[in-house]
Amino acid sequence: MEKTTKVLMKRYELGRLLGQGTFGKVYYGKSKITNQSVAIKMIDKDKVIRNEQADNIIREISIMRLIKHPNVIQLFEVMASKGKIYFVIEYAKGGELFEKVAKGKLKEEVAHKYFKQLVSAVDFCHSRGVYHRDIKPENILLDENENLKVSDFGLSAFAESKRQDGLLHTTCGTPAYVAPEVIKRKGYDGAKADIWSCGVVLFVLLAGYVPFNDTNLMEMYKKVSKGDFKCPNWFPKNVKKLMCKMLDPNPDTRISIDKIKRCSWFKYGANGRQKKDEGENKTTLSCVTTNPSDQRDETRSDDLEVEAKEEPVVPVSINAFDIISLSSGFNLCGIFEDSFKKREAKFTSRQPASVIISRLEEIAKRLKLKIKKRAAGLLKLERVDEGRKGNLAIDAEIFEVTPFFHLVEVKKSNGDTLEYHKILNEDIRPALQDIVWVWQGELHEQSEQQQQSQS
Ligand code: ATP
Ligand code: MG
Repeated sequence: MEKTTKVLMKRYELGRLLGQGTFGKVYYGKSKITNQSVAIKMIDKDKVIRNEQADNIIREISIMRLIKHPNVIQLFEVMASKGKIYFVIEYAKGGELFEKVAKGKLKEEVAHKYFKQLVSAVDFCHSRGVYHRDIKPENILLDENENLKVSDFGLSAFAESKRQDGLLHTTCGTPAYVAPEVIKRKGYDGAKADIWSCGVVLFVLLAGYVPFNDTNLMEMYKKVSKGDFKCPNWFPKNVKKLMCKMLDPNPDTRISIDKIKRCSWFKYGANGRQKKDEGENKTTLSCVTTNPSDQRDETRSDDLEVEAKEEPVVPVSINAFDIISLSSGFNLCGIFEDSFKKREAKFTSRQPASVIISRLEEIAKRLKLKIKKRAAGLLKLERVDEGRKGNLAIDAEIFEVTPFFHLVEVKKSNGDTLEYHKILNEDIRPALQDIVWVWQGELHEQSEQQQQSQS
């Protein structure tokens, strides 16, 4: 039994300290409502949130809230108090994977299992546009069934600020896991940088030590940037080949995840060598790309009946603090929580503002709503015919998180609530369906998440 002491936000009993990171501590916690074990990562706001980062953080957090994968530590909720941000995340009971490696290199089949799980996690997050950029031992955890769980996915913005502070580190204060292009602080491709780090992880699992090491930090940087490493002789030939392709210092020629997934060691591990004798190589793995549907409605008409001045509707940009204050009770995820009964509905969209606006205009036209006002980030729509409580008026406000990530708030500003709900649920929601990334309240079913089986 975990001993608990403090209660956080009336929702979580806080237990023992699980670990300490650069920005704060991680505690064991237990939900007072569901009794579920969680980990709570506490971060000092002032240490991390500078304005230029806030947008990134919010964008990635919003996406992370939607990511469910058996090998990714799930982010359950984010809460904030005046000085702190609390990430409530899935608890990994088995602790850090590398505590195992500290006892010696792993057997090939065990390393193979972990590597497959790691690549599966990374591939999945990349398909959703989330990059880790800080894959390292402390972020690779195990659950009670010895399955790998990558933590801190989507929190890379925090890692970014750490880099700017020159605090790039691993346990031993070296950039052992970081791709050369990241060290050089050039603009880099998050996907390729993650592949490099996965390569280092694979090396460590099979070798029991890091590929790039030197007591002199400068020498170590040099080795990393040249991709200067040597595989121990017990590495199978196909692993050596894979290692060279993953630890290619040139991100442009570095192997992609799709190709990693197609290589024989990835597919079969140690068994691959037997299978080869049996004449494998016939199988081709197809790669599944998940792109959110991008079908545009071509029926947009320009002869819209517009009463208001044709002022451009430019979304208002929003930062982490705005989002926190928009959300109820300092609970950041409140912005997504059930509010069907409320006057306002919020959704996020990965479309540019122009697409959102023209879609809202189309809806207005179809529903015979007049556009009464266009202002910065705001469209005011009004019904021409009077309803039970005067003319129904609806405001749609668009907040820019990034140019391709918006939060849109739709709310009733006048008229009958029932009529508003009818129009919202029967007309507006369906008509927005293909541009909505997520409506608040339509998020995670936490129970699902535990049930996904391992590959
Ligand atoms: P950084 O600050 O760069 O992220 P870090 O990964 O060491 O470094 P944290 O992410 O704050 O820091 O985690 C600190 C330690 O807490 C981890 O090394 C791990 O041992 C433990 N820990 C983190 N998340 C969990 C979790 N979900 N379940 C169990 N233990 C965890
Ligand atoms: Mg971490």
